[in-house]
Amino acid sequence: MKRILVTGGAGFIGSHLCERLLDQGHEVLCIDNFYTGARRNVARLMDNANFELMRHDVTFPLFVEVDEIYNLACPASPIHYQFDPVQTTKTSVHGAINMLGLAKRRRAKIFQASTSEVYGDPTEHPQTEEYWGNVNPIGFRSCYDEGKRCAETLFFDYHRQHKLRIKVARIFNTYGPRMHPNDGRVVSNFVVQALKGEPITLYGDGQQTRSFCFVDDLVEGFLRLMDTGDEVTGPINLGNPGEFTIKQLAETVIRLTGSKSTLEFRPLPQDDPRQRQPDISKAKAILDWAPTIQLEEGVQRTIAYFDDLLKSGEA
Ligand code: NAD
Ligand code: UDP
Repeated sequence: MKRILVTGGAGFIGSHLCERLLDQGHEVLCIDNFYTGARRNVARLMDNANFELMRHDVTFPLFVEVDEIYNLACPASPIHYQFDPVQTTKTSVHGAINMLGLAKRRRAKIFQASTSEVYGDPTEHPQTEEYWGNVNPIGFRSCYDEGKRCAETLFFDYHRQHKLRIKVARIFNTYGPRMHPNDGRVVSNFVVQALKGEPITLYGDGQQTRSFCFVDDLVEGFLRLMDTGDEVTGPINLGNPGEFTIKQLAETVIRLTGSKSTLEFRPLPQDDPRQRQPDISKAKAILDWAPTIQLEEGVQRTIAYFDDLLKSGEA
């Protein structure tokens, strides 16, 4: 049994990770400032004696005794990370410094939830880990993209300078139950709009592409990466290579919900990448990992979650 810290553990991905770690018999300390996370995401874990929830902001130092750290704290949806961009950069950069400092003191292994956004609006397709990216340093997405890039830099400098054991995952668009219903990300937006019979908001012409990974697949990738030998640092892409246009996603959601919603075209946000698809050869070779849940099944499970949430009056 290990003592494992999950920062941002009350968020969408973090709550699924806490659940899996508890299932494996570990002790989990979940910290979160509840900026985009919610107690309800971890409510079912509160009765587990191995689970502890603490309100804490990662931009402040933390002194706890743990063996492993998963650093997920950071708002992930453009609406939320652009709401207070200075805090977003602080969360990524100061948060990384604080968690790396903790890992250094404890000699703990540390995992970083990085992002495909480090590739920016990519000029290479699909994106391999060797691609250095095409990122606007002064745009609306920069607080998130550059914050995450700087966090990666810090992880690798702590690794080289202090011999820290690091694991950096570059996560591509992930979806599933417990996404924030109002966080503006495309899957939650479309599913909630379809269930309410409201127009589906397509930004631009809807021909931009994304590759959507179901959260259970992603968490499996996290666990496998954390379990690799010390020589494996990443960065490793984790995502589902199945590439769809946003319009195709809208049509899938309408079909699976049986909704009467219509499509409504809206302006494309600034710096919105045209195309995004992970090359997961490394994850396949090193982790023997590949996603197993296809879009239809994942979207169906997500619809079931939001349907319950809407019926319970919580969204
Ligand atoms: P989320 O917003 O649901 O979760 C983030 C959690 O971090 C929330 O619970 C939030 O309250 C918490 N948080 C934010 N700032 C904090 C701070 N200063 N101190 C403590 N807690 C803080 O988002 P998610 O989709 O679960 O993303 C989790 C991680 O994965 C993030 O680091 C994100 O950048 C990364 N990621 C997610 C995706 C995706 O598609 N979901 C893609 C790439 C990377
Ligand atoms: N998008 C859309 N309608 C929405 C929300 C998003 O057309 O209601 C588009 C958005 O412009 C982007 C894609 O869907 O091209 C994915 O957006 P999301 O915010 O989920 O993630 P990211 O842009 O970070 O990949």
